[in-house]
Order: sequence, then structure tokens, then C-alpha cells
Amino acid sequence: SIRVRFAPSPTGMFHVGGARSALFNWAIAERSGGTFVLRIEDTDANRNRPEWTEGIISALAWIGIDTGSPVFEGPLYQSHQEPQHRAAVARLQADGRAYHCACTRDEVIARTGDSNRGYDGFCRDRGLAEGVVRFRTPDEGGTVVEDLVKGTVEFPNSAMEDFAIARSDGSPLFVLANVVDDIEMRITHVVRGDEHLSNTPKQQLLWDALGTTPPVWAHIPVIVNEKRQKLSKRRDKVALEDYRAEGYLADAMVNYLMLLGWAPADDREILPWSDMAQEFRLENVNTSPAFFDVKKLRAINGEYMRALSPEEFTAACEPFLDPSWDRKVFAELAPLAQTRLAVLSEIGELVDFAFLAEPVTDEAAWNKAMKEPAADLLKAAAEAYADAPWNAEELKTRLEEVGLRFGLKLGKAQAPVRVATTGRTVGLPLFESLEVIGREVTLARITAAIS
Ligand code: GLU
Repeated sequence: SIRVRFAPSPTGMFHVGGARSALFNWAIAERSGGTFVLRIEDTDANRNRPEWTEGIISALAWIGIDTGSPVFEGPLYQSHQEPQHRAAVARLQADGRAYHCACTRDEVIARTGDSNRGYDGFCRDRGLAEGVVRFRTPDEGGTVVEDLVKGTVEFPNSAMEDFAIARSDGSPLFVLANVVDDIEMRITHVVRGDEHLSNTPKQQLLWDALGTTPPVWAHIPVIVNEKRQKLSKRRDKVALEDYRAEGYLADAMVNYLMLLGWAPADDREILPWSDMAQEFRLENVNTSPAFFDVKKLRAINGEYMRALSPEEFTAACEPFLDPSWDRKVFAELAPLAQTRLAVLSEIGELVDFAFLAEPVTDEAAWNKAMKEPAADLLKAAAEAYADAPWNAEELKTRLEEVGLRFGLKLGKAQAPVRVATTGRTVGLPLFESLEVIGREVTLARITAAIS
């Protein structure tokens, strides 16, 4: 049966690119009834921290990769596998596939006269007992990688140096440890980021040399920002946790991440996980870079938000509301906000006017809306509202009438009223909002605006 793995290094906040790789693997495991192994590649003791590992596990849980699922295996820790890594190095040496090398870089360059060229194989047959351990690569021919995404990629062996697999203290290097673990865990498909493609011919040689059929390879495209630069933690917002904190819904995030380099056959953009898992095929993953389009993510999140029940929506907003805000009042505004919101963290600025003693006012918006004849219009509106039955329909009709007297359409007449009562030029439907804040507050704010 199919066994895939996700093998993050816990060296920082869990990245959206990692989440995408994990989801692709998870989809394959779920659809095939196979296994998804989580392996924590924690061999870089200087850069690893336990909290990063915890962050990975909780972020995976958030996007539905659940340690309790029958498909899930692990987490396994690479650092616990060191005896197996060392045994593999010893075996390769015993088989004559690897050898010790004591050359310094300067010595190699002095011999080859070219700092761009790799190791020249000087120690291959010296029978040294110390130094780094290098793998003996073939001198001729090519190593052909069959990749489900990239197609057939041939790497000329002449360009492949005898690469190191262990340091001189015997500790194994990534390129080896990663293969030994995959063999041990009986991994059938290695699905990972593009940036590892250059390791793949070396790793395929190691699989062969260790007597095991290499896995199916699939290298998925890099993710880029709007400037077509590879997404990076210095430049871009990449931590999955940050998106969660900003109020993206997990289902929306999963849906969006799955579309980074893949699309279902019918090009639907909004589809449930069960459909994505059923339809996902590595063969349909693009080779071109995937653009991380925050606008599209917001749009998808908005769709998922609108699909929530009123109760679910209110519950989702809760962490983003000021504790002092009256929840009964919020419940009246929530349906108005639900159709307009892209991310939950923006709920506050949409509804705060209903809770604050004075609305937060944007000065530029204020100046723009309060041009002539705003003051007279507001005075007339206050009079018209003084005895109006307090419902949105009536408030709208009355403002329409007031507008007519000034030769203004409703849209224009509404602007100063909106700014006076909510502080902003755009927001929730105005008359429904006024209905919620009530006559007293509405009139007080209009009066304050013209005094
Ligand atoms: N630890 C490696 C990484 O995070 C894993 C590479 C792989 O999936 O083989 O990039």
C-alpha cells in the first residue's frame, strides 16, 4: 500500500509551503487508504527547538491532518535514527560504495584549479580510515529520475561529484539520513518541494546502493509572491499560524493551499476536502511556480465565511471581539457583517461604531463627506428621524425624502449620515446599522457632527 511522508525540519514557524506539501501527501494517503508518516527531521541541533515541533503538530491539526486518524503515523524523530544512519554509512563503505576522504577544500581547488568544480575523487582508492565519508558516484552515463510532476529528468553523472554522506566525526548528513529513514519507513512516494530536486539523483543512487527500489518521486512547484520571488520568511508572510491568527478559516486555508499548483478537472475553486482528496493526482500538478495570491485567499475565505451558519459565524468572530462589547447587539450586526467580511480580524472595524462612545473617525473621510450641504442635510435628517418609526425601511425612506430636498440621490445623501454615525465612508448597510444603534445614539452623533 501507498506510504507517503511529510518530513519537516523544526527550524522555524511552520510555513504555508510546508502546509501545502503536507496536504498533497495527506490527500494521497487518504484517497489510497495508505499511510501518511510525519517525520521530524531534527538532526540540526543548533537550529531545532521543541516549540517549533509542537507548532508543526498543532498547525497540521488545524488544517485537518489529525494525529488520531488511522491514516496518520508518527511523529517519528530523525535524531532517534542515528544508529541506523551510521550502520548504512558503514555498509556502503564495506561494499566499496563509499570511502573516507581527508582533503580540504583548498587542496581540491589547488588540484582542479576550479572552485566551481566539485570534489575530484582523489581519496577514492587511498583506503583512509578517517575523514568525511563520500559516496562513489558513477563516472559515466546519467542518472534518470522519473518524476510524476517534472517528467523524466536526466542528470549526467560526470557532473555529480562524490558527495559527502557523513562528517568526519561520523555524524550522518541530510542527504543520507533522509534516504535511510525513507527506506526504513517503507516510503513508496516522496512528494516534496522543488528545491530538493537537485538532491534526488544522489538520493536515488543511495536507494540503489542500499539495495532498495527507489520511491516514486514528485517535486511540487515553488510558491512565489506577487513579484515572482520565492516566498521567504524575511519578505513575506509565510507562517500558517499568522494566517490563523488573522482570522482565516481552516477549511478556506486548506482549499486555497490545495490550489497552489493543482486544480480539479472541472476547475472548481471552492470544493470540500473530501472532493479534493478524491480528485487530487500528482500527474495534474503544474510545473510552473504557484503564485501565493492573498486576494484570492481572501475571496475564498469570504466564501467559506458566508457558508457558515449564523451561530458558527458568531462563534468564529468571538476571539476577535472586544470583551466589553454587548454580545446581544453584536448578534444583530453579525448577519450584516457576515456577507461583507473577508477575514475575521476585520470584524472589529466593521462593527465597533455600535459599541464605542464615539465612532473612530477617519479624518480624510470626514472632510470629504462633510462638504456643503452636509451640515444642512444632517440637520434636516435629524428632524426627519426625531419622530420616525425606528426601522431600516422607514429610515431609508425618510433620508431619501431629505435628499430630494437638496437635489441629492440617496447614495450622496447617505454619505454624511454614515460618517457622522459610524465614522467611516464604507461599512455595513447604513439603515440596518442605525436601527441597531437606536434613535438616541443616532441623533446624538448627527447633532455632534454639526455642532
Ligand atoms: N527536512 C527536509 C525539508 O524540510 C525534508 C526534505 C524531504 O521532504 O525529503 O526540506
